[in-house]
Amino acid sequence: METDPAPKLPPARERIGPISDSLKQLYPEVVTALTHENALQLLVATILSAQCTDARVNTVTPALFARFRTARDFATCDITELEQLIKPTGFYKNKAKHIRACGVALVERFGGEVPGNLDDLVTLPGVGRKTANVILGDAFATPGITVDTHVGRLSRRLGLTRHRDPVKVELVLMELVPRAEWTDFSHRLILHGRKVCYSRKPRCESCPLAALCPNVGVKGLAQKRKRKRKFVSGRPNGAAPKS
Ligand code: SF4
Repeated sequence: METDPAPKLPPARERIGPISDSLKQLYPEVVTALTHENALQLLVATILSAQCTDARVNTVTPALFARFRTARDFATCDITELEQLIKPTGFYKNKAKHIRACGVALVERFGGEVPGNLDDLVTLPGVGRKTANVILGDAFATPGITVDTHVGRLSRRLGLTRHRDPVKVELVLMELVPRAEWTDFSHRLILHGRKVCYSRKPRCESCPLAALCPNVGVKGLAQKRKRKRKFVSGRPNGAAPKS
């Protein structure tokens, strides 16, 4: 297991307990923000959430789920109608294709039900390990580590891993975090990424995890881009070029 211990901090396996405890205190209640009533709705909502906020997905799903209730409904839907219903979530043509193809696969191979195991879930169109783990954790109460952009970034910033490959990050976290906590730990890292440890400008100065984090004070994307622009232009941002 490749980890990235900070020079003055204990290794990841010794910090993971305090990190997890701090996250629990910060975010005691963790549920997926995607509104759903069953595994099929969560599957569809999770496909829609790619490159889109959960809040926006929640604005389209009430009408969508009122119109299409079963896997067969999605399998036999008019693709144009489906596209129009999900258009506000972006990339709607691809998402519509995946959702309808998922409906077909569920009807043809799983009796119209969403399967409750990783191996079957990842065979569905548009469903990778990330989506599969969301569904396992939130619809089947089966622990799963979901590695989205927040979980990947925070795992690296917190020195839990150096990997950038989501599957490798998932495997590292599976070793570090007790199995029963996999789902909630993922949710909490996502919340911390959304509220404090932003990609563009992390709020290290007010981060309750700072004492456990080897990258406190890390430059976010916004600061890195600013520095890069300055370097490329060879002069401070906004300064007039020399004539
Ligand atoms: S100290 Fe900064 S880099 Fe570390 S987890 Fe907090 S916000 Fe993120």
